[in-house]
Amino acid sequence: MDIQAELISIGNELLSGQTLNTHGRDLGQALQNIGLRLSRDTTIPDDIPIIGHTIEEALTRVDLVFVSGGLGPTIDDITRDALAALFNRKIVLHQPTVDKMETWFANKGKKMSLAATRQAQVLEGAAVLTNSVGLAPGQRIETEDEKTVFVLPGPPREFNAILSEEIIPWLNVRFADIKPLIVRFVRTEGIGESDIVTILENDKFRPADVDLGFYPGQGRVKIRLSSTADNEQKVLAAQERLQQLLGEFIGSDPTE
Ligand code: AMP
Ligand code: MG
Repeated sequence: MDIQAELISIGNELLSGQTLNTHGRDLGQALQNIGLRLSRDTTIPDDIPIIGHTIEEALTRVDLVFVSGGLGPTIDDITRDALAALFNRKIVLHQPTVDKMETWFANKGKKMSLAATRQAQVLEGAAVLTNSVGLAPGQRIETEDEKTVFVLPGPPREFNAILSEEIIPWLNVRFADIKPLIVRFVRTEGIGESDIVTILENDKFRPADVDLGFYPGQGRVKIRLSSTADNEQKVLAAQERLQQLLGEFIGSDPTE
């Protein structure tokens, strides 16, 4: 079963080159580890209509949509408003988060501002996902047609904490039957991509049911072999054949 997910990263700073968008990498890897697939990664500005359209469009393609960014206390943090408009739901205050925030500010000898409480606002009916390293919680929203939208804060540390502590365990239960992909690598050095391809073509190397990816950089080429769990033997056989064919060019550092 091929379960696909899309990521929508929200933030003007991601488009202006000010901030490197790391969520696609982290989510893609985390989903692959449990046998799901990130099929699209879209970055959009802080703009309510664009956020609404982009989520709506993603929901026509996949059952799982991850939305990140724009959950802070500032006026450009409008993701909640966009979600409320799209799903026609109210924004409500999540009291346990307010309590947690009050304690957090009190410990710092500060009083919580009204602006700060915006971070405790969630969509009515959303499951609230604990943020163990920050203030704004994540949210899981089930749509009328049984699709799931995860909403996560932008800071990578918080995004990854909620992903690994709340979302991955939930997905593991929801998709208990799904097995992780089998992924293997062959690493070469001292040979270019076109020469590798020539060797493989001369051998008619085209392993059935195994996806191949070639990733060149700094005189090395990393070759990725992947397939579903039931094709493990095919992946291992293809890896072995590649190592034979490219024998003298196999990289000395297997972790590179
Ligand atoms: P926000 O949740 O939009 O207020 O963003 C809070 C912080 O997280 C800002 O410093 C952002 O630049 C950063 N951030 C938001 N989205 C991403 C992303 N996709 N990758 C890396 N950093 C991000
Ligand atoms: Mg932002």
